[in-house]
Parts: sequence; C-alpha cells; structure tokens
Amino acid sequence: MKTRIPELKRVHVKTYGCQMNVYDSERIVDALASAGYAPIDQPEGADLVLLNTCHIREKAAEKVYSELGRLRRLKEAGARDGQQVLVAVAGCVAQAEGSEIIRRAPQVDLVIGPQAYQRLPELIVEAAAGKRVVETEFAAAEKFAAFDRTAADRSGRVAAFLTVQEGCDKFCTFCVVPYTRGAEVSRPAEAILSEARRRAAEGVRELTLLGQNVNAWRGKGPDGRSWGLGRLLVALAEIPGVDRLRYTTSHVSDMDEELIAAHRDVDALMPYLHLPVQSGSDRVLAAMNRRHSRADYLRLVDKIRAARPDIALAGDFIVGFPGETDEDFAATLSIVAEVGYASAFSFRYSPRPGTPAATRADQVPETIKAERLARLQDLIDAGQRAFNQSRVDRVAEVLFERKGRHPGQVVGRSPWLSPVHVEAEASVIGAIMPVRIDAVGANSLFGSLSGQARRRAAVEATA
Ligand code: SAM
Ligand code: SF4
Repeated sequence: MKTRIPELKRVHVKTYGCQMNVYDSERIVDALASAGYAPIDQPEGADLVLLNTCHIREKAAEKVYSELGRLRRLKEAGARDGQQVLVAVAGCVAQAEGSEIIRRAPQVDLVIGPQAYQRLPELIVEAAAGKRVVETEFAAAEKFAAFDRTAADRSGRVAAFLTVQEGCDKFCTFCVVPYTRGAEVSRPAEAILSEARRRAAEGVRELTLLGQNVNAWRGKGPDGRSWGLGRLLVALAEIPGVDRLRYTTSHVSDMDEELIAAHRDVDALMPYLHLPVQSGSDRVLAAMNRRHSRADYLRLVDKIRAARPDIALAGDFIVGFPGETDEDFAATLSIVAEVGYASAFSFRYSPRPGTPAATRADQVPETIKAERLARLQDLIDAGQRAFNQSRVDRVAEVLFERKGRHPGQVVGRSPWLSPVHVEAEASVIGAIMPVRIDAVGANSLFGSLSGQARRRAAVEATA
C-alpha cells in the first residue's frame, strides 16, 4: 500500500462545453478549496475527479459516458492501492439525466446540477462516507450567492469570464438549455460590480460577461433604477483597470436600444458581437421558435453596424433542423453571405430528448445534414479568411495574454477576438499594444510590434 498524507486531497476537474462551464469549473475549484481540495491537471493521483458536462448535442453527452468508462478503471486501480477515488458528474448532463447516471455508471458517487454547486463541499463529504448522492434542485440565486463568497486570487490572468445571468426562457424547440439551466435569473448588479473590481485589482484587464441569454440581464443598479445590460456595461467600464469588455451569448429579441448605444458610446466595449441566427429561412426560424424573422435580424445587424461600423459579427447555425428543405438551406447560405460574419459556429441538428423538435416525424437524414454542413462551413471559412485578410497591413490594439507555443512568441487578442501571434518579450503580457498585422493563419493573425512598443517592452523587461 502506498503511503499517503490523508489531509492532502486533490481534485481534477474536466470541463466540457461552453464558457459558462469554464467559469463554473473555476468556481467549483474555489468552493472545493474550502473543503481541503487542491486542483491537479490530470485524473491520475486525484482523490476526486469531477466532470463538468455539456448536454447541448448528443456527441457532447456521449463523451461523458466514455470518459466515465476510463474513470472506472482509475477508481478500481485506486481501490487496489487503498485510495478512495470519488467520481462526480456536474453540469448539464447531470441536470438532465440525474439518477440515470448513477444507474448506468456504478463508479459515479455524486451527480450535481449547475444550480446546486453551493452544496458541493457538504455533498462531497456525504459521498466520501459511501452515500451515492444526486442533487439536481433549481436554485440559481443561491448559486450566485455562493460564487459571491469565493474570492480566489486569480493574479496573473489578464482576461477573465464573469457570469451575470443564467438560464433561458426562450424555449427554442431544438434546445435543452431551458430544461438543464432553468429559468432566466440575473445576478444582482452589486455582486457583478464587486467581482469586476476584484478581478481588476488582480490585474484582469478584459472581462467577458457570460449568460445563456446574456442580454436578457436585468437588475437594480446602485442608483436604485432598473438597469439593462447596456447600463451595466457603462458602469463596468468606469471601474479603473477594466479596459476591455465583451459579452456572450445574445438573443436577437433582447438586443435593446440602450445596449446598441453602448456599442457606440462605451470605448471599452470591444467591436465584437456573437449574435446567433441559427437559420436564414423564416419557415425554419418560426419552427425553431426563435421569435424573429430573417428581416428582423438583418435590420438589427444594420442598426448595430450603424452604431459601431467596425464591429465583427459572429454567428451560430444549425443545419438539418426537422423539415429543412433545400430552399430553406439556401436561405441560410444567403444570410451568411449577406451578413458577412467574421466567424461562425455551425452544427448538425442533434435531436435532444425532451425538446419538441426531437419528436417531429420529418427528421432530415444524416447524409443530407453532413453535406449541408460541409457546404455551410466552406462558406463560413471563406468569410473568416476574408475578414482576417482585411486586417492585414492595419494596426490593431492587442491585449497580450500568454506565451505562444514557439519560444519568443506571445499571443494576444485583437479587438475582434482573433488570436494575434507576435514575436516579443514575455513582459508584454498584460499590456495592450498596437500591433501591425502582417499575415493571416487558419484561425489567427500574425503581427509585429512597432519599434517604439518593442523598446518599451524591453525597458519593462529589464526594470
Ligand atoms: N442562447 C444562444 C442563442 O440563442 O443563440 C445559444 C446557446 S446554445 C448553448 C449554443 C449553440 O448550440 C446554439 O446557438 C445552437 O447553434 C447550438 N445548438 C443548441 N441546441 C442544438 C441542437 N439540438 N443541435 C445542434 N446544435 C444545437
Ligand atoms: Fe437555447 Fe439560446 Fe434558444 Fe435559449 S435562446 S432555448 S439557450 S438556443
């Protein structure tokens, strides 16, 4: 039997899916620190392995079960060495499948939905005592309150996420989010502002506000008035040290005048907006319950571009929604061309259990979905290349975030969210500097610092 120090416990968190899960995983690590767990990068050697899962498409959920197969072997190997390895499943698969996971996967000790993370430390103790625990209660407000209590030191990072909203009331007919994340809940403005101040004090210069429907955020401001996301962005931009702001993901019907005006008036708000449309066909949009038409979307794009002409738009698309015809798909291709996205994500429709579209009889064959997806992705890739190419020989303000993979290379983000690779001293990390864009890669830009910026970086490096 190996000698172990009983007090030293280690947790490995594996995150799947969206940025909300990335943020939640960080808070989970913070919460578990209070229960005596320190994070490690790999499952081997962990006392607790927690999978923070995604249920948005079938493939995402399948990955969890295959990972659980690997963890079963790890758990058995631990038991042979006299080590108790706990396995926990969190996130949207936990919420959607609940005790079904416990039934299918005997190696799982704890199943915990996203609204219950504030109870994680106590539930881990129960699981360690041999109880198989399932906790999928909805209490988003309490989850936010628990996050407010965690004040982890994240020094060294220059860009961070900040959750402001959870859940969704839109009920698009293809989507599990309203079922797994529950109703829309906004985090109080004061809590958001105080987390933003804390992050700025730690050296964070860019904040990305997160929510499944982030622009549905509503709250009472410190002035006692009712605020929307536009007003919140104004207040966040006033915090010293908060130089850059972004928010994701937005719904068309919650894009109000104040928020559009923020794109014109708030310098810190970066010229980038992820505004999914899913389909270019009115018939499909109605069947998806998106609550707007193609023309509504295009009008909104015009308004946003009038407020911020250099804005880069990003989208999401689903191909092969039930009943989608060749004509509907052609309308999707044409909206992509008409909008001119800087980038976009595209997915094959994946029937999700419990959603209205899943039971429709007119499902599109997988071969047609695959063929449409390939055509759409070609068009999106060409648009992205054209957008990136249009940056060449121009100067962009880049926030340097980390060292690159190659020695002497540093990577940052342009205002339009593209990664920018530059040969420079690591001392530029944390700085926002003008970079001349020289060349374009598959998904990123390559640039150079001006002589003056180089000299400044060198002086800072030797200071
Ligand atoms: N709230 C955002 C909105 O309304 O656009 C989207 C959030 S969802 C987590 C992210 C993306 O996953 C969606 O925009 C959609 O394109 C995709 N998605 C959601 N359900 C899907 C499904 N059943 N099949 C394929 N893609 C799906
Ligand atoms: Fe899902 Fe977004 Fe529709 Fe809500 S608005 S149901 S999160 S796709």
